[in-house]
Amino acid sequence: MDASLMTSTTAGIVSRATELFEDLSFATARAWKAAEPGRKVVGYMPIYVPRELIHAAGMLPLGIVGGGDQLEVIHGDAYYQSYICRIPRSTIELGVSGRLDFVDGMLFPSICDVIRNLSGMWKMMFPNVYARYFDVPQNYRDDIGGNYYVNELSELRHDLGTLRGKPITDDELRHSIVVYNENRRLVRELYDFRAEKPWQAPAAEVYLVLRAGLVLPVEDHSAMLRDYIAAAKAEERPRRDNCRIVLTGAFCEQPPLNLIKSLELSGCYVVDDDLLLVTRWLIGEVATDGDPLRNLASAFLHQSESTAAKYEPDLKEKGQHLVRAVKRSGAEGVIFAAPSFCDPALLDRPMLQHVLKDAGIPFIAFKYAENSGQMQPIREQAGTFADSIKLWSGA
Ligand code: SF4
Repeated sequence: MDASLMTSTTAGIVSRATELFEDLSFATARAWKAAEPGRKVVGYMPIYVPRELIHAAGMLPLGIVGGGDQLEVIHGDAYYQSYICRIPRSTIELGVSGRLDFVDGMLFPSICDVIRNLSGMWKMMFPNVYARYFDVPQNYRDDIGGNYYVNELSELRHDLGTLRGKPITDDELRHSIVVYNENRRLVRELYDFRAEKPWQAPAAEVYLVLRAGLVLPVEDHSAMLRDYIAAAKAEERPRRDNCRIVLTGAFCEQPPLNLIKSLELSGCYVVDDDLLLVTRWLIGEVATDGDPLRNLASAFLHQSESTAAKYEPDLKEKGQHLVRAVKRSGAEGVIFAAPSFCDPALLDRPMLQHVLKDAGIPFIAFKYAENSGQMQPIREQAGTFADSIKLWSGA
């Protein structure tokens, strides 16, 4: 393909994003590191880490979300019992097979016991790599959870400064906050555009473009987002008679790309989702004046997404984020898709379904693994759901 088409057409941009998605040896991140002596790469797992801190240290934040459906897990299974999700096994596989041998640090956010245990295993298996279990507050008062979180952020800032051999300054951090604010603004713009015209920005394409942000430097990813939004607006695509759905529960282990494609092929436009939440975890601008750590903490407490791994103290508020997402995106139903054995998503599901029932919003639910191969049952279920919405909703 002509070089200019690689950045000016959706086909070109998506082809580049697909290459990044399929590359399990992370060649782009390796090349970034090799381009200048002293560069470092810090990996992180779902759902959220403050990538601004890694960026401010001059390092590349690298999102690790398991091995997908192309990685043969040989060693990883030996480390885990059969009745847990797959992402820790395939992440171990990435580690022991040397695919992450260029990574200087790994952050394991507090999302569930599986990730917590993985952080301990990583420390034992890769003692020369900086590994941190990154805890976030479950209390949302500034004087309790806020102070706690500022402390966590300070420790991480200190550790990353030590890793590069020079402390991270406030100005470096403020600059990184500006850069990530812009990236999140573009992601929101893309999501808004898709909600408005989902036939112009298919879910699998949006996913791939978002996923590229896990491996590219943020500045390059923002450029890709701008290019994709411009190209998707410019190209006229056929509009199908699909229903509009919100996809939820897929915030950690990722569904296979074929599953996302299958939903649209079976008659469902995805108009909102919780895939790759790190790219839009903070839903507003992080302030850039004053104390940058306090600003990051305040954004986390007061302007962050709701999800199963986040405590909601107000029972009346539980699940309302989903109702709001349905209204905001003009969706007609919700598809719960969670990884098999995912405690946070599957324990949350009945509560959320209850809320949807009360709000009169139709839903279906199924489970997947990152390497699920058989899409026919999912196509049938999603197709029947789409038909039932078209036939009976609002009748
Ligand atoms: S998929 Fe669910 S259970 Fe597995 S690591 Fe992620 S949050 Fe935890």
